[in-house]
Amino acid sequence: MNRTEELLAEELEKLKDGGNLRSLPQSLHEGRHILSHGRKMLNLSSNDYLGIAAEGRLWKEFLKEGYHENGLPTSSSSRLLTGNFPEYNELEQKLARLCGKQSALVLSSGYHANTGILPALCTHKSLILADKLVHASIIDGIRLSGAQYIRYRHNDYGQLECLLEDSHDRHDRIFIATESIFSMDGDEADLERLVSLKRRYPNVMLYVDEAHAFGVRGMNGAGCSEERGISGDIDILVGTFGKAAASVGAYVACSSIIREYLINRMRTLIFTTALPPLIIKWTSFIIDRLPSMKTEREQLAAISGAANRLLENKGFHTPSTSHIIPVITGDSASAILKAQKLQEAGFYVLPVRPPTVPAGSSRIRLSLCAGTPWEDIERLIKSI
Ligand SMILES: *Cc1c(COP(=O)(O)O)cnc(C)c1O
Repeated sequence: MNRTEELLAEELEKLKDGGNLRSLPQSLHEGRHILSHGRKMLNLSSNDYLGIAAEGRLWKEFLKEGYHENGLPTSSSSRLLTGNFPEYNELEQKLARLCGKQSALVLSSGYHANTGILPALCTHKSLILADKLVHASIIDGIRLSGAQYIRYRHNDYGQLECLLEDSHDRHDRIFIATESIFSMDGDEADLERLVSLKRRYPNVMLYVDEAHAFGVRGMNGAGCSEERGISGDIDILVGTFGKAAASVGAYVACSSIIREYLINRMRTLIFTTALPPLIIKWTSFIIDRLPSMKTEREQLAAISGAANRLLENKGFHTPSTSHIIPVITGDSASAILKAQKLQEAGFYVLPVRPPTVPAGSSRIRLSLCAGTPWEDIERLIKSI
């Protein structure tokens, strides 16, 4: 080991002592189950919220019906060079229609979206007001933007209102950034309230990340913005394909001007190889079917509501109003222990620890999927 490696090893040792050392879990998949250490466990840690990946039926249909034909597994270039296959335009038109926006732009991942959009749209005179609990990718985007920023207390719109009042005339533009369903707490932003706040000032824009709501909420699966009927008032509407849509990639739905500006200024679009046409075709195939997956959405809402109530009855307070359900244990060691116990009982749940969540709020995070049998969820909650 050289000097640097010795220092890194010391740091790793400290992480280990605090119960915060991470490693890559090996996982073999079998439908809704994970096989690991000779155990078969119900997978409660995946983001396959509609059960599309676990079920595999649509993928078989995609292959059988030949939708994949001529869909290359590489695009060999950025979209600004030769990577902009016709499949992209088709998918973007579908997304714009689905989201009720003028236009949409497909990006390589939610991480690319969130680290690229704010840096493109902000100047050093801009201000970003972000919910305290926004995803790490948004935080990284804020840092890269070079703009000033303040993180307001989680869902505290009184504080946000004061911040806007204080600062609206001191910045060229202000972005309010939030998730619609929050990744770690499973609670929701009050999008109507945010829209009414941002409407007070002409230089304020609203940025909403629907990663956990896309496919899951709204009549057609477009997300919470569709559910509340306010897509038109959200300036920057981001969603991802790696979760309920069982694919990979992301989109931003916005005005044509913003789309054109991003094409010219967004580094995580310009300087990366475009997703392969094969993936774009698969995403497009899923997007066509999202509106008809109402049964899955309703079933997921029903088991999620029932699971949240059952946990409350057992004395666990969860902030969740969705299919993402944290069971907060406090310190990292107790989260690890609880996850281990539940794995032994046949449930694949994982501990979530700092820095993903604030210190002292380590938890196990249940993420439910349509088609997860209710009896299993009931048994799981009994074992908690
Ligand atoms: C998962 C997630 C992302 C990242 O999306 P990827 O496509 O996985 O890179 C962004 N934002 C939120 C809120 C997420 O949960």
